[in-house]
Formats: sequence, C-alpha cells, structure tokens
Amino acid sequence: MKLALVGIGKIALDQHVPALAASPDWELAATVSRHGTVEGVEAFTDIDAMLAARPDVEAVSLCLPPVPRFAAAEAVLRAGRHLMLEKPPGASLSEVHALEALAREAGVTIYATWHSRMALGVAAAKRWLAGREVRSGKITWREDIRHWHPGQDWILEAGGMGVFDPGINALSILTEILPQPVHLQAAELDFPQNRQAPIAARLQLSGGIEADFDFLQTGPQTWDIELSTDAGPVALRMGGNVLETRGQPAEGQEDIMQEYPALYARMAELVRAGASEVDLAPMVLVADAFTLGRRNTAASFDF
Ligand code: NAP
Repeated sequence: MKLALVGIGKIALDQHVPALAASPDWELAATVSRHGTVEGVEAFTDIDAMLAARPDVEAVSLCLPPVPRFAAAEAVLRAGRHLMLEKPPGASLSEVHALEALAREAGVTIYATWHSRMALGVAAAKRWLAGREVRSGKITWREDIRHWHPGQDWILEAGGMGVFDPGINALSILTEILPQPVHLQAAELDFPQNRQAPIAARLQLSGGIEADFDFLQTGPQTWDIELSTDAGPVALRMGGNVLETRGQPAEGQEDIMQEYPALYARMAELVRAGASEVDLAPMVLVADAFTLGRRNTAASFDF
C-alpha cells in the first residue's frame, strides 16, 4: 500500500523513513514538507496538492507537531485516505473526537499511535500485572530537552505540551499496563517565565501513583515506571524496554519488532480489517493536569 509522510523533521527521518523502508506492507510514495525531503521520493510542499496529484496514495502518516496537525488530518480524511497520527494525536481532545467522527463518516481508518506502547517490555508487563493489585507507583521521566529536542521552540509554545511531550509517553505505557483505570488527583506545573508550556511537572494519580517529569535533566537520563503490587515490585525501565519483576530481569519480553516497525504493522492490520484505534486515556491525564494543576513560574528557558 502506498503511503505519504507529512512533516519531514526529526522523528520522520529518525524513525518513520527507516521503518517504512523495511516494511513489507508499505511503500513511501510521497512526502509533504516545506523544507524536508526524502531522497528518491516525490516531494510536495502542500498537502492538498499532494492529495490531488496522488490518488494512488491510500494512507497518510502525520509527523507534524500537534498544533498544525489538525488541518492536515482533516484534509486527509476529507480526501478519503486512511490516517495515522504521531503522538499526541492532537493539540486538544475535542479535535481528536472531531477527527474520529470524520473518519467514521468517510469509512476510513484512523490510528492514533502511542509508540512507547510498542516498547519491548510493555506487553509482558501488562500480562504480568493482569489480575494483580497495584498498591502504589512512581514514574520518573527526566530527560534533557536540549539534547532530544534541539531548537524545537514549538514544544514550549501553547499546545506544544512542554514536558508532557515526553511525559505522555510514560502515561501511554501506564494506561496500557495497569489492570485498573487511573485518574488525576493533583498536579504542579513549572512554566519558564518566557514560555507557554511547562518545563517540569509533578502529578498525583489515583492508586497512590506519582509522576515526576523533568525536561532539564543533564547527565544520566531516566525513563522508569516502578509499581508496587500484591505480588511484589515490578519496574519498566528505559522507556518501557526493560522489564524487571521482583527486582530481577524478566523473561518473556517481546523481541520481535521495534516501536516504529510495530506501529506500521499495526496500521496495515487496521486498514486491512477496516478498523480504527484511538485511545485518548494518556491525553486525558495531561489535559486534566493542565485543568487541575497548580502553576509555578520557573526561570526563563532558552535553547
Ligand atoms: P520537528 O522535527 O520539530 O517537526 C516536524 C516537522 O513538522 C518540521 O520539520 C516541519 O517541517 C513540520 N512543521 C509544519 N508546521 C510546523 C510548525 N508550525 N512548527 C514546527 N514544525 C512544523 O518535530 P519532531 O520531533 O519530528 O516531532 C513531531 C511529532 O512527533 C511531535 O508530535 C512529537 O511529539 C512526535 N515525536 C517526536 C519524537 C522525537 O524524539 N523527536 C519522538 C516520538 C514522537 P517543514 O518545515 O519541512 O514543513
């Protein structure tokens, strides 16, 4: 199946292009980007022009930042093409609901991806936790914005989500593996005085689960979820890739596919089945943190 990639920036080049090149299901047939291109692939700078010129493109995968994404997503669905969305699936919950409704009307697939749910230890952690009681938990998601997002000013603009851009990955794993639903109880958000999105946040979730998100972590980077259960401790480290049960490395982790190849395989499955997948649970927790959270002013931030 032919697919177009929109927004040829960091994640498109780092992950989507190699995953598509190795995919038995997809051929990268066109790109849409004002500056970026992929060698050997027809390049457009305008999405409507691409949709008009390439009726053979059945699916479009959007790698734009969340704020400019809705207009492109709407154009794809109105043109009757299948739609795959990078995380977070939109800048607001209501725009994703609108996209879901449009996809239903158009009879096409919409897939809101959460790449961290495809990390190697996640499915095994979910199996281990099934039927068990989680008594408390601690999420530590601390990374260096200057290293991972150099010069990406959009992340700290309104709708860019700030530290929730990586933090939502932790929440996507948590909401996938927990045997019970979780909701936000309180939050504290630190906004640099020259920016519109938080650079750090601390969340209190139901079930005694706390989260500590920080975008200014230099030195060792941490992406850990540690839970205490009625059957002992369980931890997912390295962004969901390493599972430990009762303090020991766990057996039986998935080792077949990396995150992005797994996302494109899932997209192909959904298209073939005429199905869609949109789970907004991680984004609801982030929206609630903005609704409920206490706001602190932090030092100015520049890249
Ligand atoms: P990026 O490199 O800053 O942006 C991707 C491309 O979007 C840009 O190169 C730009 O291409 C296009 N674009 C269109 N309108 C834009 C606007 N108003 N502001 C900025 N860029 C605009 O971002 P990214 O890191 O690839 O992230 C894109 C999405 O993928 C985000 O939702 C992010 O959460 C997600 N993601 C990122 C990572 C990562 O490690 N970076 C990992 C997983 C997921 P043109 O200028 O050529 O149009």
